[in-house]
Amino acid sequence: MTCTPSPIQATSPGRPLSVAAVPSPVADLQENCRKCRKCVAACRVLDQNGTPGDIARSYDSSPVTVRRLAYSCSLCNLCQQICPYDLAPSEMFLNLRQEAVSLGENHLRPHRRLLNYEWFGSNAIFRHLHLPVDCETIFYPGCALTGARPEETLKLYRLLQTVEPTIGIMLDCCNKPSHDLGRQQFFQKRFSARMQTLAKRNIRRIVTGCPSCLQAFSILPHKFTITTAYSMLAGNVTLNPARFSGLTCSVHDPCSIRFAGTIHADVRSICKALGLKLTEMVHNRENTFCCGEGGGVGFIDRKLSTEWNRKRVIEAEDQLLVTYCAGCTSQLRNHGNVHHLVDLLFADESNDKPIARTVTSLQSWRNRLMVKIRLMAARKKLQ
Ligand code: SF4
Ligand code: SF4
Repeated sequence: MTCTPSPIQATSPGRPLSVAAVPSPVADLQENCRKCRKCVAACRVLDQNGTPGDIARSYDSSPVTVRRLAYSCSLCNLCQQICPYDLAPSEMFLNLRQEAVSLGENHLRPHRRLLNYEWFGSNAIFRHLHLPVDCETIFYPGCALTGARPEETLKLYRLLQTVEPTIGIMLDCCNKPSHDLGRQQFFQKRFSARMQTLAKRNIRRIVTGCPSCLQAFSILPHKFTITTAYSMLAGNVTLNPARFSGLTCSVHDPCSIRFAGTIHADVRSICKALGLKLTEMVHNRENTFCCGEGGGVGFIDRKLSTEWNRKRVIEAEDQLLVTYCAGCTSQLRNHGNVHHLVDLLFADESNDKPIARTVTSLQSWRNRLMVKIRLMAARKKLQ
C-alpha cells in the first residue's frame, strides 16, 4: 500500500524565525500588542514577565535581563500561532539575542556545550558530500538523525534513491544552534558557503531528514527547493499496511516546523500506510508544544525546559508517540514510548512493536563517523 498520493513538492515551515522579514520585531510589538494576554496564558516565560508588548516597552539590555528573558524563550512560536493579531514575540526574543551577540559572546558561556557540539560536528571529520552523476537533489539528514539513527539514516537514503536514483547526500551541520543563539553573522557566513557549494554543483533541491535543518534552510533567501525526506516518501513508496495494524499512535509535530501543514499531513500519511491508527493530542500540528529543547532554554533554565517537556508527555499519555525529529525523540525519552518515524519505517520484521532507543553522546559521534565511512566505502565500490 502506498501512502496518500501527493506529488513531491516544495515545503517550507511557513513563517520562519527570520528577523529579515520584519524590520524591528521589538518596535512591532511595542506598537501593536493589544495586551489581550492570550499568549501569556499559554507560556510560562510570558506569564512570568508580562505581555510581549510590555516586555518590548520595558526591556533593558543588561546581562541579567538578556539571560533571564531573551534566552528563556524556546523560540517555539506557539505565541505567534495564538496571537489574534499575528504578532511574533519569538522574533523579538531572537532579535534581542542577536543584539546581545553583537556586543560580545560572554553571555553564551552556559551554551558552550551546545556551541561545541555544533563546532565539532561541523568539522571535516564528519562532513561528507557524495553527488552521483546527474545529481540535482541532495539528502541532508542532519547531525542529530545521523548520530541517533545511523542505520536508519543509511536505509532512508536508500529508500529515497528508489524515488530519485540520482539523489546525493551531504553530511554537515546546519548551524541552527548558532542561529537560535543569536549568532546571525556566523550563521549567515556558514549558510552562504554551503549554498554556494551546492549551487556550483548544480543542485536544485535539498531534502532534509531533520525539521530543524528544514527550518535552518528556510531562514535566508535562496533559489533551492527545500522539502523533507518524509514528504518525498509520502505517496511515492510502497509500505506494508499490516506492519503495525492494531497499534494506535499520536504524532508529535516539532515546533520548528509548526506552520508546515504539508509535512504534518505527509507524516500522518506514512503512519497510516504502515497500518497505524492515529489519535491526535489536543496540541497538534500548528498548536504543538515544544519538546523542551527549543531555543537552547535547557542550558540556562532547566525548569522551563522540563515544564514544556512535561506538558507534552502528559498530553501524550501512554500512547505510542511518533515524531520525526531526532532532537524531540531524545528530549521526550522520559515518555518511555516515543519513536522516530524512521524507527517505524525500518523496524525489524521480527518485532510487532517498535522499540524505544536512546544513544549516548559518545555513541552519537561514533555513529556519525560510521555513516560517513559506510558512504565512502559504498562509493569506492561503485568506482
Ligand atoms: S516562542 Fe514559545 S517560549 Fe517564546 S514566548 Fe512564544 S510561546 Fe513562549
Ligand atoms: S496574543 Fe498578541 S496581542 Fe495578545 S498579548 Fe500576546 S502578543 Fe499581545
